Amino acid sequence: MKILVVNAGSSSLKYQLFDMDKGEVIAKGNCERIGVDGAVTHKRPGKEDYRASVALASHDDAIALVLKLLTDPELGVIADMSEIGAVGHRVAHGGEKLRKSGILKDEDIEYLYSIVNINPLHGPPAIKGIEACRRIMKDIPQVGVFDTSFYGQIPDYAYTYPIPYEYYEKYRIRRYGFHGTSHRYVSGKAAEMLGRDLSELKIITCHIGNGSSISAIKNGVCIDTSMGFTPQEGLPMGTRSGSLDPSVIPFIMQNEGISAKEMDDVLNRKSGLLGVSGVSSDCREVIDAANAGNDRARLALDMLIHYTKKIIGSYVAEMNGVDVIVFTAGIGENDRWLRERITADMDALGVKIDCEINNTCPRGQATDLSAPDARVHTMVIPTDEEYMIALDTLSLVNA
Ligand code: AMP
Repeated sequence: MKILVVNAGSSSLKYQLFDMDKGEVIAKGNCERIGVDGAVTHKRPGKEDYRASVALASHDDAIALVLKLLTDPELGVIADMSEIGAVGHRVAHGGEKLRKSGILKDEDIEYLYSIVNINPLHGPPAIKGIEACRRIMKDIPQVGVFDTSFYGQIPDYAYTYPIPYEYYEKYRIRRYGFHGTSHRYVSGKAAEMLGRDLSELKIITCHIGNGSSISAIKNGVCIDTSMGFTPQEGLPMGTRSGSLDPSVIPFIMQNEGISAKEMDDVLNRKSGLLGVSGVSSDCREVIDAANAGNDRARLALDMLIHYTKKIIGSYVAEMNGVDVIVFTAGIGENDRWLRERITADMDALGVKIDCEINNTCPRGQATDLSAPDARVHTMVIPTDEEYMIALDTLSLVNA
């Protein structure tokens, strides 16, 4: 069966078409500048990429273009839209109700609309993508795969914030967690690499990229995660602050005379690696600056290492041990130096990597980095959220 995976953003729509019998991507691409002017990049393995400027007024236009390209006699990979068995949509937030991937019904879309207030950035474009596919691909099942659903079994004492309970009742303010599809994929892959069942393992997954989160997965159930009500909590990220003393926020607002919206902008777009280093949100550029002697760049990296260690340590305590630590996403997969620094001086916990393997393992390949005398496996596993979405979609339409 062929499964189309769609990831709709406010002005972009990424797609991948999987041939699930072969477990391969047969075409993928990105529609950009939707609602501005419009551009598309369409890729097929072994063939030249197709790039064009095409007017894209809406997400409906983008989906229509994707289907046109996929079925085009020259650029396409299928003869007809009916070859697509189902569409899997990446949806960041499923709220408290949508706790499992599922074929989307009218009431699910209504529910997604009802939680736009707690997911104002990612909610509306995801709904637009789903509605466009429903309109244009009428009988083809549309499946929602929610980043938050991996966190549906986090205990109440770990997801509740210590603020007046009425705010949870009134606004559903609680920890939801994000990047769940990535954490689910790499934890499953880690168990597979060890030839063991998830139900017998304690795993800490570190998704460290431009946005970063860490999850604790005990016996196949995620029991805690570092992101919270929004993807802002936890580690310092590219431009997001991560966790800080909440009183800092009104203090800055009062002293700088800025509004809640401006403060949100400071915390989301001007903080993290960028805010501390003053150089860049891109880890590579911050490392280059640190190597050239920039002390604030050094500080930003030391902070990322410090907070990562701190969260890993707290999850070891929560789970009463750990069997595997996994690194994934842009920084986790690629930055050998950072992996070495994060796992250094953790031998008391049984964590020890083989620096030679860490320095030479091929990029893009899942690898166990552990030293022979380590009690805990440390792995690097490339994440594949789209494939996870395709797998969920396939199993739902086959069921
Ligand atoms: P992501 O959000 O997962 O795409 O990750 C983006 C982050 O990964 C950026 O901070 C990049 O600097 C970082 N990154 C990507 N490739 C490398 C690399 N080869 N070495 C270090 N960092 C990298």
